Amino acid sequence: MIYADNAATTKMSSAAIAAMMPYITEYYGNPSSLYLAGQKAKEAIERARESVARCIGAQPREILFTSGGSESDNQAILSAAMIGKKQGKRHIVSDPIEHHAVLHTLKKLEKEGFEITFLPVYGEGVVRAEDLKNAVRDDTCLVTVMYANNEIGTIQPIGEIGRFCRERGILFHTDAVQAVGHIPVDVVKDGVDLLSASAHKFHGPKGVGFLYAKRGIPLSNLIEGGAQERGKRAGTENVPGIVAAAAALEESAAKMEENARKLSALRDRLICGLSEISHSALNGDAHKRLPSNVNFCFEGIEGESLLLLLDDKGICASSGSACTSGSLDPSHVLLAIGRVHDVAHGSLRLTLGEDADTEDVDYIIRSVKEVVERLRGFSPVWRDLTSGKKPFIL
Ligand SMILES: *Cc1c(COP(=O)(O)O)cnc(C)c1O
Repeated sequence: MIYADNAATTKMSSAAIAAMMPYITEYYGNPSSLYLAGQKAKEAIERARESVARCIGAQPREILFTSGGSESDNQAILSAAMIGKKQGKRHIVSDPIEHHAVLHTLKKLEKEGFEITFLPVYGEGVVRAEDLKNAVRDDTCLVTVMYANNEIGTIQPIGEIGRFCRERGILFHTDAVQAVGHIPVDVVKDGVDLLSASAHKFHGPKGVGFLYAKRGIPLSNLIEGGAQERGKRAGTENVPGIVAAAAALEESAAKMEENARKLSALRDRLICGLSEISHSALNGDAHKRLPSNVNFCFEGIEGESLLLLLDDKGICASSGSACTSGSLDPSHVLLAIGRVHDVAHGSLRLTLGEDADTEDVDYIIRSVKEVVERLRGFSPVWRDLTSGKKPFIL
């Protein structure tokens, strides 16, 4: 099997599994308890906090462990909105290719009287700092722009946005779930106030992540109860998960350069191979792009059928469209970069893992070529296109 869906989730690393084991078998005590088994667990959380902080250039006290990326996004945005509201500021700037954890939180705030401006991302799927400069107002309380996109892999100009927000005294949150552990992230250099990350996207376990909040930013609780996480996130800590998350990030950070170099070469080989398919197009900028991400549209086919046939060939991939309650919604990200519905439906996302090699990539290229040709062979849409009844878009 070739697992090429690393943007959806990753395999846990051996280091992460080994790190979590003692906190399941031996030091399973509650970190709030005073006996040794509890104190060992408490110490392990604090070591994990130091380690995670170091990997993103933060201070340990600025790291809050959460259940993952979605929770971190919710808490960051709702906290910033609460701070804004107290100052009479109810305007937020974001973009249309954010993860639903961000978009749905913004929608909720909109119903509560906040106004959201979405920056354009153009055909290449990247926001422009000059658009942000024109969009901010005196009542802007938050800018939230993701570090890198989960579907098309585009990397946003975070440093530029951060510097601008800092000058203007506007809070800046970035959903860095796809970036942390994969490309260099430094909250100080990037001028970030709030940052979300998730362990299962960098070879840690599912159900654990963290929120970085710059010192002095008052967070609102999503979960009320005990005084865990400096009173900002109640509930007995997920000790094995937190320890494993830190171990996974340490390893990803140590191997980042090597992995990025290797993966971007494989990515470019894959892009080159798939470009040979007629009436196809790469989604997202070719250069401002995560090392592992390849996303294509193929005209005249449906992404779902493509995925099923690739699964038969032992390839795990993903499509932009999500099948919800019988209706096929094309990806909001592909629509935002200007793909029309029909074309957006024929999308394929391949996100390579660090253990992939050129043989895997060549097998993927051969398989996709074969499957696309086969599907086009019995596609009525393709027949209309080739007979000239409908014009090609790609
Ligand atoms: C996966 C992902 C999330 C959600 O993280 P979970 O830990 O699964 O809740 C949020 N944002 C982005 C960009 C993601 O890729």
